Amino acid sequence: MLDYDISKLTSFKIGGEIKKVYMPESVEEFVQILQKEPEAVVLGNLSNTLISSYGYDGTVIITTKMENVDITGTKITAECGIKGPKLSKIALENHLSGFEFMIGFPGSLGGNIFMNASANNQCISDKIISIKCFDGQSTKDFSKEEMEFSYRHSICMDKKLIVLSAMFELEAADEISIKNKMDEILAFRKSHQPSLALPNCGSVFKNPENNSAGKLLESAGAKNMAQGGVHVWENHANFIINDGTGTSLDVLRLMHKMSEEVEKKYQIKLIPEIRYLGGNNKEEVELCKKLKIK
Ligand SMILES: Cc1cc2nc3c(=O)[nH]c(=O)nc-3n(C[C@H](O)[C@H](O)[C@H](O)COP(=O)(O)OP(=O)(O)OC[C@H]3O[C@@H](n4cnc5c(N)ncnc54)[C@H](O)[C@@H]3O)c2cc1C
Repeated sequence: MLDYDISKLTSFKIGGEIKKVYMPESVEEFVQILQKEPEAVVLGNLSNTLISSYGYDGTVIITTKMENVDITGTKITAECGIKGPKLSKIALENHLSGFEFMIGFPGSLGGNIFMNASANNQCISDKIISIKCFDGQSTKDFSKEEMEFSYRHSICMDKKLIVLSAMFELEAADEISIKNKMDEILAFRKSHQPSLALPNCGSVFKNPENNSAGKLLESAGAKNMAQGGVHVWENHANFIINDGTGTSLDVLRLMHKMSEEVEKKYQIKLIPEIRYLGGNNKEEVELCKKLKIK
């Protein structure tokens, strides 16, 4: 697809036109596109990526149509595009525990592995056995240790590895206890995180070591901050909400204000958790450099 308006697919409901977009339906097709378009950016469910309202002049591959799952005993193998909540429900139906945390946020499996997503004391890397990746030349299996997982980090960030699928070993458990855990997680999130009805991109900044970005931001006065069509969420200062008219430049300007206030008060430089795709607007490029957003 050419000149594709991406805004309706992003959880922020922000984003301009992408020059070329592919949405492969099988892993084989995905690998063929990766071989033909080595510079393409791979995205999942766009719930951790701020896409510039000024568009992106390159190629993007969106993975969410690849969502096959295979279950053998307690082992689950899933393709990279499946969304966390769907995978979580499939695990429940098969009486398998370990994916409850994914019920609460919209990331794809590939995005979750790339980001080493976590919530409610569970992490995507906890139950991984192996991951199939494309390294630019060929397809290879990586063990959990080879993925170098740490807080919001995987080796995919350093070595341009594209996640194709992953195999997990879950634990057999009774359906009611799994369902109860999911319900608890959903109830907790309702009071601590904005739902997608308020367009957002999850936590804006990573937690500094032994500290909470939300608490630092709150005490630096971020809850009262707004910029253009976006504002900091009243219930938790590490979320930015698009009120419907927000642009990527509004988000980056607000992030800059938020991080400056924390740095002034605590001499702590907050590092963005959300990622950025764009490059057509000079001020955005400058703000990205200042913020060290990737
Ligand atoms: C309401 C809300 C709540 C959230 N809560 C949480 C939470 O509790 N915990 C948490 O960790 N996150 C949370 N997030 C953030 C987000 O959902 C996660 O970061 C998720 O892992 C992103 O997945 P995605 O598919 O949307 O990634 P995208 O935004 O599409 O991409 C994110 C990054 O992953 C890379 N990527 C995507 N797919 C692949 C692939 N197949 N191979 C290699 N790289 C790939 C992209 O290039 C990009 O750099 C939340 C977001 C929202 C909107």
